[in-house]
Parts: sequence; structure tokens; C-alpha cells
Amino acid sequence: MRLQNKINLYTTVLFVILLIMMNLFVYFVSSYMIIDSEMQRIRAETEKMVESMNESLNIIPTEELLRAYVPVDGMVRVVTQDKKALSPVTSSTEKELSKLKKTFYLGEKSEKITFHNKTYAFISIPIIWTDEHVVNLQVVRSIQPSIAILHVLRMVLIIITIIAMVPVILSSRFLSRFITRPVTSMIETMTEIRKSGQFKRIQVNHKSKDELVEMGDTFNHMIDLLEANFVKQEQFVSNASHELNTPLTIIESYASLLKRRGQVEPDIFRESVEAIHSEAVQMKELIEQLLLLAKHNEKWNIKKSEVNVAELVQHSVQSFKKAYHREIQVIQEGEYLIHTDEQKLRQLLFIILDNARKYSDQMIKVYIGSKQQKCVIQISDQGVGISKEDLTKVFDRFYRVDKARTRSQGGTGLGLSIAKEIANVLGATLDLESEEKKGTTVTIALPMN
Ligand code: ADP
Repeated sequence: MRLQNKINLYTTVLFVILLIMMNLFVYFVSSYMIIDSEMQRIRAETEKMVESMNESLNIIPTEELLRAYVPVDGMVRVVTQDKKALSPVTSSTEKELSKLKKTFYLGEKSEKITFHNKTYAFISIPIIWTDEHVVNLQVVRSIQPSIAILHVLRMVLIIITIIAMVPVILSSRFLSRFITRPVTSMIETMTEIRKSGQFKRIQVNHKSKDELVEMGDTFNHMIDLLEANFVKQEQFVSNASHELNTPLTIIESYASLLKRRGQVEPDIFRESVEAIHSEAVQMKELIEQLLLLAKHNEKWNIKKSEVNVAELVQHSVQSFKKAYHREIQVIQEGEYLIHTDEQKLRQLLFIILDNARKYSDQMIKVYIGSKQQKCVIQISDQGVGISKEDLTKVFDRFYRVDKARTRSQGGTGLGLSIAKEIANVLGATLDLESEEKKGTTVTIALPMN
């Protein structure tokens, strides 16, 4: 069953049940109150009758006395202990009542009875009769007018229930349509996306601020993210193939040069082999970086241990100094033991130090200290710096400020993207401050345990 029909059916059934229950309650309470007040009234009248009869019992003959008290719509009779009725007197309209079964009661009795399809109030009060015996003075009175009122009430309530069902059905239809419209539109949009392969958004009416609008917004937001990711992935693939294409073209051209003249010209042979080797090394590095970026967080295989950060930085700086013969000054403000992945942190440091080396010629400064409960490693250079405009883009994959220059320096444009990912898996933050032609400072902030 469709969601719309389900909502429609459930709300209608629920409302109808509620309506019927409410009307039944109204009917039974009214019926109880009307009948009860009628019974009380007749009972009070009978008690009064007993009082005045007692006064004139020995003066007026019984039959005349009873005739004087007979109600207009009922019967009055005296029932003795041996269930004989002394002279039952009925009103002219209720003659049939004289056939009512005689029963003697020891105590007082008042009840509603049905006789020949009519409803009566039956009151029986024990009194001392003229012969000093206990008899029952029984009064039976029709309560048919009250029953008629209840009948009308029942009809009115039934009609009200039927009439009220119309707006209930209409409103539940409206409600189900109102709720399912955004869902239907979402399904339509999803089907369109599936068929066309294009990213589409659903129309959201922002006038109301309900959950359905929120759902529509969330859906659109999700599509935005999917589209952005899709575009990024596409860009990544095209950039990666472009990046791989350059060294392959160089290798190919040197290989053909080797084929043609390599055997006869030793200089060309040496130059070509050198170039092919260098391009192959760069390509290997690029592929390694691409593989690293393709990993998901859980595949990073983090192995945490207690790491002495200052020691790690000092070691990395020493090996860097040896490898590149660069001047690096380390300022250390304390010892920091941090629970982190040593290998990944070393990799992160290496990327930042390597950038500082590539894009500056002067001394590189490294500072180890703490700030706001975090262990901070700052790497500053006095090199070319990055313009404000480029600063926001350098973390993008394959982004390089000066493409020709960075490539000749062995840059792939992936270093900072990898650094950002490593920082993320370590729970660290990476900040970059830079001024063109003045230098760059990269701050790594590691959470202290
Ligand atoms: P690459 O492998 O090209 O260095 P990165 O992702 O590490 O790639 O850096 C992206 C770009 O940011 C670099 O091409 C470079 O132009 C710029 N950059 C990064 N670090 C520095 C720095 N310390 N000084 C100046 N420019 C930098």
C-alpha cells in the first residue's frame, strides 16, 4: 500500500474510532443521568403518596384511595405477601399493566423495567396495611418520553458522526498528500538523477520551517556534497592522468632518441638514461602518493605509542640536514610525550620540511613548544612565500603555485593534501601562514593526552 493511502487510512480510522467513542460516552452518560433523575423523581412522588395514603387509609375505601393516586401514564397497586394484588388501578392508556407479574419485596425496590416493548419506572415500598400486615405499594410509571428524548439524542449523535466523517476523511487526505508530496518529489528527483546521471535538487518551500523542509534541504545538501565530491574525483583522475602523462611523454621521447642515436652517441645515451631514470623515480613517487591519498581513514593503519616529540623532531632535522646540507635551527621549549603514530608524524614533518627546503634558500627554523593544551611544532622558512589567493588552494590535490618551477624541483602538488590527511588521522591541526617573498610558517598542533 502506498504511504499516502496508509496515512489516509490510519488517520481516518483513528479519527472515526475516537469520534464514535466520544459520542458513545456522551450517549451513555446522558442516558444514565436522564433515567436516573426520572427514577428519583418518581420515587420521591411515590414516597409522598405513601405519606398521604397513611393518613387516609382507614377513612377512605382502598380502591377509591388508589384511584385517587393513580398516575396518568401508569399503575398503582398493593401486593400482599402471598403475591395477590389488591385492586390494581391503571390509567386509561396503560390498561395492559394490570397483567404485570406480581412480586412481593421485603425492602424498597426501584428499577427500570420493560413491559410490552415499553419502558417503565417500577417503585415498590413496603407499608403497614389496614389489616396490620406488611404489603407492597407498587407504582409503575411510563418513562417513554425520556426514552424518546434518548432516541432523538442517539439519532443526532449518529448523524453528527456521519457528518463529521466528511471533514475527517478530507483532512486526512489533505494531510497525507501534504506529507507525501516532498517524498514523492524526492523520489521523482532521485529517479531523474538515476536516469540522466545528472545531479538535481528538489524544490523546497522555505516559507514553512517544518521537518519536511528540513528533509528537502538535507537531500539538496547531500546532492551538493555528492556533486562536489564527484567533480573533485573527476578532477583528481584527470589531474592524475595528466601528471602521469608528462613523465611518460618524456620517457617515450628519450627512449626513441636512444633507439635512433643512443648506440652511436655516448653523450646522448648518458643524458637519455639519466632523464629516463629521474622521470621514473618521480613517477614512482607520484604513484606512491596517489596510493596514499586513495586510502580511507581506517586503512591508514595507525599504530600509536608514547612519542617524545622533541626527540623525533631533532632526529628528522638531523637526517634532513645530512641529506640536503641545509641550515636548520631548532628551538625547543620543553619535552612532550604524546600518544601518537611516530611513523605518520615523521612523514608529516618530512613533507613540511621538504616544502620549506624546496621553496626557500635561507635558514629554516623549527620551534617546539606548547599552546592551549597542545604540543606545537612550527616550521618557518624565509622563501618565496604564497600569495593570499593561493593560500586557500595549496591543500587541494595537484595544486601548485608555479607549475613549471615546482615540477623541476620534484613537486607533485600532492604533498600538502597528504599532510592534511595525516594530520586528520592523528587528530592534529595544520595551519599555514605565509607572505609572498617573505616566507612561510606551518604550524602542526598535536593534542596532548
Ligand atoms: P608540491 O609537491 O608541489 O610541493 P604541495 O602540496 O606540498 O605540493 O604544495 C603545494 C604548493 O604550495 C606548492 O606547489 C608550492 O607552490 C606551495 N608551497 C608549499 N609549501 C610552500 C612553502 N613553504 N613556501 C612557498 N610555497 C609553498
